Amino acid sequence: MSMFEDIPVGVGIIFEGERIRGRDMQVELGGPREKYKFELVQSRSLDEIEDGRIEFAGPDLPGLKEGTNNPFGILIEVAGKEIEKDLEGVIERRIHEYVNFVEGFMHLNQRYDIQLRLSKKSYEKGLNTLRLLGEVLIRLFKSELSFIEKIQVTFVTDPGKVEEWFGKAIEIYEARDARARGMSDDEVDVFYGCSLCQSFAPTHLCVITPQRYANCGAISWFDGRATDKVDPKGPVFEIRKGELVDSVKGEYEGVNKVIRDKSLGEIERVQLYTAFGYPHTSCGCFEGCAFYIPELDAFGVVHRNFRSETVNGLSFVTISDLTAGGRQVDGFHGLSIEYMRSPKFLQADGGWDRVVWMPQEIKERIKDFILPEIADKMATENDVSNIDELRAFLEERGHPIVERWAEAPVAEAVEAPAEVTVPTLELAPGAVPIQGIPAGMSFRIILKNARIKAEKMILKLEKGG
Ligand code: SF4
Repeated sequence: MSMFEDIPVGVGIIFEGERIRGRDMQVELGGPREKYKFELVQSRSLDEIEDGRIEFAGPDLPGLKEGTNNPFGILIEVAGKEIEKDLEGVIERRIHEYVNFVEGFMHLNQRYDIQLRLSKKSYEKGLNTLRLLGEVLIRLFKSELSFIEKIQVTFVTDPGKVEEWFGKAIEIYEARDARARGMSDDEVDVFYGCSLCQSFAPTHLCVITPQRYANCGAISWFDGRATDKVDPKGPVFEIRKGELVDSVKGEYEGVNKVIRDKSLGEIERVQLYTAFGYPHTSCGCFEGCAFYIPELDAFGVVHRNFRSETVNGLSFVTISDLTAGGRQVDGFHGLSIEYMRSPKFLQADGGWDRVVWMPQEIKERIKDFILPEIADKMATENDVSNIDELRAFLEERGHPIVERWAEAPVAEAVEAPAEVTVPTLELAPGAVPIQGIPAGMSFRIILKNARIKAEKMILKLEKGG
């Protein structure tokens, strides 16, 4: 009997990546319009947990009006002899994956920023209580992560209780994040990789180091270490650093090798501390994004919850679209807020001396980590609303970027070369170029977001093969 036969909708990896539009949703839980939302995993001792228990603090789905968004929290408590505190972050991140396995449920983002949608179609099929979602989560967690011996789930929908728990959750996230602060990449021989988001961005891999927190802001180096120990075949795994290629940019031979393997050759190299050349890829779950402002030769940073336009007139959604998808896009760099607290934050690009704008909310959150001599020289949406105003602000406050302009004037005209030589390829005798591609030249075809159906696959051994 299938593990999910009593669940009225399908459950499986095939439903990951399903998008539910506003007009098709029965209800939204959390999401950008709700200030208070959270997901949290807490480890407990074995005798504190009633295995399989599902509780509610607030109304279940039928009590939530169709088409509305609602404050929402999910608390998962786990126990097991091998479970340690450092595993909480990674178990928590799996909520994203497992909710997305449920037909008609969509889960985006993480921690204090979650957005879940349930489709009308699945609701009508019988997925009309969160108890069923709880059942699925409990079964998946226990079957996939065998070190979880007991698990209980609480859904929080009462607005007052969500707000109360939100405050507690923020303190818990902060304590987790603080743990790796002060450690350096040089102190360790291994980093950790996370491929959890490859179902959305097949060429993306997060490289998690003591000084570079995962893009989603949910997994630290300690979390990676704890997970690799108990779930070595899982999506979070050890990466041996190997030879250092560039200490400022943060490039390592071992990391490059793993990236090449995991991205099926699409990404050749990654430099952890730059937004140019070979930047760390971004899936789409990043908490924030650094974006290059060519007019000022500087960076702005924006986070997911910023609803207005940034100083260059682009919204977070537009910047996010330009950045996401497991690509390396010069000047667009997905990041976690915790990474902004790292001494290696954009180190190869000038670090804080190159950052000129960010929303007030982020500035407030990381104020203790911004170099004091620069904090007042960086503008927010409260100071300026376009690039010209920003330029004047930076000049008036004496931001270090102004000196950089003096050294290398911005937007200097580049003289075009008098003649451009295009290399030609010699064809083998008798070879015919196909659509302009010379014979003898190898190329790779990458199909993105493609669904391929085949009735049969025939493998034939070629002579001499
Ligand atoms: S953003 Fe990175 S670390 Fe976070 S779940 Fe996705 S791949 Fe893993």
